[in-house]
Amino acid sequence: MPGGVRMVRLVLLAMLVASASPAFGAIKLVLDQENVPWWQDLPFFHRDNRTLTPDNYKRLLGAYGPDHGFYQIAQALFEDKAFSAYMQRQNGIRNNNVTIILVDDDKKSEKQKVWPHADALGRIFIGKSYFDGGGNDPAGARALVAHEFGHTQDRTFPSLWKPYGPDGSHFGDEIIKPHAAFMEGWSQYNAFMWDPSEVSSAKWMATNLRREVKPAKKGDPAYVDVKDPDYQDYLDNESVVGLVLFRIKLAHPDGEDRVRSVFKQTKNLLGFNTLLPGLLAHYVKSYPQDAALVAAALDVTTGFKAPESELRKILGAHAGDYLPAVRDRLKAAFDDPKLARIPWARPDKVLDGWLHPTPPVPQAAGSIAGGARGESDAGPQPTFNGLSQADGP
Ligand SMILES: [Zn+2]
Repeated sequence: MPGGVRMVRLVLLAMLVASASPAFGAIKLVLDQENVPWWQDLPFFHRDNRTLTPDNYKRLLGAYGPDHGFYQIAQALFEDKAFSAYMQRQNGIRNNNVTIILVDDDKKSEKQKVWPHADALGRIFIGKSYFDGGGNDPAGARALVAHEFGHTQDRTFPSLWKPYGPDGSHFGDEIIKPHAAFMEGWSQYNAFMWDPSEVSSAKWMATNLRREVKPAKKGDPAYVDVKDPDYQDYLDNESVVGLVLFRIKLAHPDGEDRVRSVFKQTKNLLGFNTLLPGLLAHYVKSYPQDAALVAAALDVTTGFKAPESELRKILGAHAGDYLPAVRDRLKAAFDDPKLARIPWARPDKVLDGWLHPTPPVPQAAGSIAGGARGESDAGPQPTFNGLSQADGP
């Protein structure tokens, strides 16, 4: 969620105090501290008396009821062991203190309502108004927290001038600035991991991109469809970034750990400028056996638009595992007119067909038929987990 400008202001300060943080960060849930001065959340001044105790946690549940996102968030953090375990795993990236602040913004004006966002001090703000009125499904509250939690682990530095475009907002189908797209994509990946049902709409949006434009005159459309996105357009979209990482995670039993470990390594203090291609290059260096998988996940999600030179930068010494034979074969499958009719489904169909080639049909007793998918040009054929859990819309 937009929080870029505020984040920029605070990120240097956060770096200064980072060394004072304990080795293992805590995740806290607190209520309504929008009016507390920011410095009281620095480690030196940390006030713990706003932390929810079991008693006022019960009061919170009583006050909101299961149809409200606040209830869902509180319950997830206090009672949902799987969710807590997931949060702790992700928190291992930075080991910082994360405070989730539920803000009762009823009395605030429309302009001051608290849109969900995170800042560089590891604080996540979620306003009550976000869930009021039924516009946002309380069942999505965990995925929302997972998304914002992703921001608290990230050190990417957004561009200083309008990182999200003229209106300051961002949408899953919007082409925004590269750093903002990477930050939001990383956070979307976090949401997808927790709740794969979030993925279907992302698949659709990643194949129906639009760009914000300055309206020529008041009332003109502020967005135009981008019919034929280029490689950079794809990289500048949060759904695309999230899906590339998610497809790598799904395709390999260790994918999640590997993505997390590579993210952690690249997001050191100097990693503010590492975006998706840099992250993937680092992935290939760390896990060269996954080189073809990484390139394939990128290619299917970005419509095979990456110039070969860009793929070579990512693949380095392992370019031969993917170029040219595997790429050519996957692209031919991608361009198959039968698949072209359903753009949002193409990426997984092609990736799945490659990772799980249809077993050859025996033509005669004792012989194995050739010619099915998975010929010798497939390169190393690792055994991967299924991709089918990421169904389309
Ligand atoms: Zn966000």
